[in-house]
Formats: sequence, C-alpha cells, structure tokens
Amino acid sequence: MSKFYFSGNEAIAHGLIHGGVRFITGYPGTPSSEIIPAVQSLIKQFSLKAFADWSINEKVAYEIAYGACLANIKSAVTMKQVGLNVAMDPFMNSAYVGTVAGFVVISVDDPGPHSSQTEQDSRFMAMAAKIPVLDPSTVEEAYEFAQKAIELSEKFSIPVMLRSTTRISHGRAIVDIKDFESSNTIQPHFKSSKDWSKQLSRFAATPKQRLELHRLLNEKIEKIAAQNKPKLFFNGEILVLSSGAVFAYIYELIEEYGLQDKITLCKLDIPYPLSKEKFNFIEKFNRIISVEETYPVIELQLDTEGRRNGLVPKQGEITPEVCEEILEKLGLIKNRKTLQIPPLKRPSLCPGCAHRAALFSVKKIFGKKAIYAGDIGCYTLALNFEATDTVLNMGASVSFGFAFSKAFELGNKKQDVISIIGDSTFFHSGIPPLIDAVHYRVPFLLLILDNQTVAMTGNQKTLSTPHDFLGQPLKTVSIEDIVKSLGVNFIKVVDPYDFQNSLNTLKEAKEFLKKNNEPAVIVFRHLCINTKQGLQNNPKIPVKIEKELCKGCMICIKEFECPAIVFDDEEKKANIDKTLCISCGFCINVCPTKAITLI
Ligand code: SF4
Ligand code: SF4
Repeated sequence: MSKFYFSGNEAIAHGLIHGGVRFITGYPGTPSSEIIPAVQSLIKQFSLKAFADWSINEKVAYEIAYGACLANIKSAVTMKQVGLNVAMDPFMNSAYVGTVAGFVVISVDDPGPHSSQTEQDSRFMAMAAKIPVLDPSTVEEAYEFAQKAIELSEKFSIPVMLRSTTRISHGRAIVDIKDFESSNTIQPHFKSSKDWSKQLSRFAATPKQRLELHRLLNEKIEKIAAQNKPKLFFNGEILVLSSGAVFAYIYELIEEYGLQDKITLCKLDIPYPLSKEKFNFIEKFNRIISVEETYPVIELQLDTEGRRNGLVPKQGEITPEVCEEILEKLGLIKNRKTLQIPPLKRPSLCPGCAHRAALFSVKKIFGKKAIYAGDIGCYTLALNFEATDTVLNMGASVSFGFAFSKAFELGNKKQDVISIIGDSTFFHSGIPPLIDAVHYRVPFLLLILDNQTVAMTGNQKTLSTPHDFLGQPLKTVSIEDIVKSLGVNFIKVVDPYDFQNSLNTLKEAKEFLKKNNEPAVIVFRHLCINTKQGLQNNPKIPVKIEKELCKGCMICIKEFECPAIVFDDEEKKANIDKTLCISCGFCINVCPTKAITLI
C-alpha cells in the first residue's frame, strides 16, 4: 500500500484500474472530467494494454464501453449527471441485457448546482433503470467503491452505477492505494471469433424475450437488495439514514455537538436497491429520517420522513449548514457553529477569449432585436453581455434556431435568429437538428465557435485533435465538410480576431438569410487561448487606454466584458489590468472614441 493525496476523480480512476477495468470511455462534463485523464496517465505509466478516451457524446460512450463489456473486457463509462440523460436509452436497455465482464457507469452529480442545468440525482435514474448504485461518502470510498462496483457487476451480471458528487469528485484526501503490481490482472478478452457466444435471446432479444429479461433483472435486484446491509453508528432514538457526502457531514456534526445518544446514523453504501424486510429494524426508532442528495431515493424505498414532509429542503445542495438546520428543526441543537460561505464572483469568459470577439461582431451586425439561442459551453457566459437568450441542453441551440424561426414564419414575420454552439457541442448533438433545418428549409444563422478543444471542462480533445493521449495519429474530422455534406449552401470559416472579415461575413450571411429559406453557417475558428499552443500563437498587440479620449461610457465593460478592462469609479475612466491582459488587441475595435490604442 502507498499513500497518495488524490481528488475523488483520481481515486475513482485508480479504483477502476485496480479493479481490472481496461476499457473506459466518456464525455467530458464538470464534475466528472478528470477521471479519463487520470486513467490515461495510469495506462501510460504502467504501459497497460487498455483503451481510455473520449467519445462524441454520452450515448456513444455508453454503447462503446458496454459493448466492450459484452466482449468480455471489464469496462466503465464516465459522465456527469445531465450526460446520463443523453445515455438513457442504452442505460435502460443494458440493465435488461446484463453484462458479460463487469461494467461500471460513473455518473457524477452536481447538487447546488454549481456548473449544470439541473441538480438531478443519478441514483434516481439508477432506480428507474433497476441498476444498483454505490454512493461514496469520502475520497477513500471513491477508490474502494470503484472496485466494489466492478465486483458487484461481475457477481450479478448487471451494470452497476458508481455515483459521485462534486464534493467527492473535487474533494481531496490522502488515500491508501494498493501497489499496482499486485492487481495488474486483466480479464481475458476475445482472441478469436470463436470466443463470442451468440446469446441471441439476450443480445438481440425480441420483445417477448425482453419480458423474460425483465423478470431476470427483477430477480437480480431482489438478490442484491437482500444482501445490502446498512452500517449503524451511534445510539439514539432518532434514526437518520444517509449516503454519499451528506453522511460524512452528519457524522461530523453528531460528534461535534455530542449527539451520539440522540441519533443513530445509518450509512447506506448502496442506496438502491433496498429491501424493506432487511430494514424492518428501523420501526423501533421514534423518528426515521432520510437525509440525502438530491432526490428521495432512500426515503421512497423505506417510506421515511425527509423531503416529502419538508424536513429536508426539496432543492439545493445539502451542505453542512443545511444539515445543521435539519438538526435544529429536530430540536437537537440551538446555536449553530458552521460558517456561512460568501457568494462567489460571477464567472466570465477569459481575457482575450475569441468567443467574446466573435459575439461582439455578431451583435454589431444583428443587434439587440435578434434572438440568440445559446448552448452548453464557455460561450454560455455571453449571457453577461446579452448575446445569449436561451440555454437548455446540449445541441438545443440548433433546435431552437429551427423553432424560433419557424414560429415567426407561422406568424408571417421574418425574425433574425442566431444559434450559437461550440465545436464539441456541435459534434455531440448539434448535427441532427441541423439536418432537420436543412430538410425543412428553415432560415437561421448557426455560429459554430470552434476553439478546437472542450474548454469549459478542462481542455479535453475534440474530433479536430490529430493524435490521442499516447501520441498515436487520429483522423481529424472537419466541421465544414460535415456542414456541407448536410446540404448547407452558406458555409464560411472566419477567424474572430479578424474584425473586418467577421463583420463582412456576417453581413453576407444576413443578406443570404433574407433571400433564402435555408440555414446559413459561420464557423468562427480560433484556438482556445487557454491552451499552451493557443496562447503561443496568439497575436501580441499590447494596448493602453488614452485617458483624455475615454468618455467613461462603459461600452467596453458592459458590451464586451473582457475581465482585463476594469473601470475606475473615482476617475470614471476605463483601465487595462496588465496582470490579466493577454495583448490580443481585439478591444481596439470596441471603443467608440478610439480611446483603446496600441502601446
Ligand atoms: S475605453 Fe472607450 S469604451 Fe471603454 S469606457 Fe472609455 S470610452 Fe467607453
Ligand atoms: S487586449 Fe483588450 S481584449 Fe485582449 S485581453 Fe487585453 S484588454 Fe482584453
């Protein structure tokens, strides 16, 4: 054993590899994105024969990893909670079909939510799919449970979910890790086509056979529930049932406030499936309360108090402060000890970000009256300078472009509609709605902001990356080739730093849309300045603000919002913060009085 200071995601990666997993796919999404890079480091470090890389979206990632498990390789797929929605089809179906080698579905939830559209609970989805779920309470358990999940999956031939949350995945702790050599065994995978056992009644089941598979799934779930044992701590008359990070908070608060003789705390490593018979001991307690994130999974299965009677808030992260509030409502504490955390500063696009430049140009040509349908990516932050009106989920910008344009057409009105999507989101789920828009001849402008990386989640590779993490060559996929192949007739590629060309191209697109009933596409391509190469390649155009020319209109602050331009409230003038400015020089185009100039 060796000790390492790991994040929860690094711990999960080590747990998977130590559990014998050798095939891992996923789609990046905070707070899950660090698992695959950590697995890739292990593959490199130990020269493992394994596959670990990103897929085009979560559904594809799920199907590839699940397919590998049917080919007898222990496998795993990683995603964030909203990614699980995208993978829901194979997720539900794979529960029926079951597994050959072990298969773990890692879904990382974001209660709060800190960086997501929803704070949905993946455990609830697991319950809907009849897939058992493990819910680690600490970083150490994240390591341990990744291995337990693979064991459980192998034992019952069923996909098993490992559900983590932001606090576990991004938390850090010292973890005891097994020495690698002792567990470097790999499940044999197919060596010849003879190894494939044609189990048509499972792998290609007819609806009638699916009924039988459902019966078998129910049997597996009942067996897992029957062996799912709770862990009890302390000795009070109130029973609190919990799992995940919340368990750890309550445990600490019980010790801190000396409530060991008031509360019995019940930890559920596997919050689904639970058997009511196994838990009939709970009847002896005065009160039975489930405190869990974020939906009532334990509460519904064991019919306890919790969210449904308002004791536990129905939304929001269950922080230590919220746990204190619950203990206060139970009359167990009076003066709370935890500190309130002050709200964080509003996030904005990085200084010099090319997305900002592109959207500034778009607003110059299309103005405030256009409808801007945004999407999931850094560019969602264009909300701050009013270049985004809607954000729903991955790819919805293109569907909304279709919807808004068609809705106005039905009212006999021509409306400028701009859909804004990133390169990775376009590949993920922007292509199908664009096909529909071409087919139904719907006019709107689609902007693909191509920074050739998945920037928001930590600069993961995209389909334009020419090599994998081991340096092996990959075939790059061209956005414009895809767009052309769908039948789009107006397709232009522009560098957003080239202000004049951007304006001209946008004007051209506007004219095209006036005359034609079909979508137009502009790819704004500029390598993300948050990558080493992107920063190196960026122009070096240092700027200053001529004080006498600055009228204090704040256009550069409100309509452009580069964090490196700050406003001096006393002087009533703008200033360049040299510590943040990357000298991209684009803001020279922004100031109406030409106060921003070259140094
Ligand atoms: S630098 Fe230009 S845009 Fe910014 S406040 Fe001064 S005058 Fe306005
Ligand atoms: S040059 Fe202007 S736009 Fe670019 S980073 Fe500096 S202040 Fe921001």
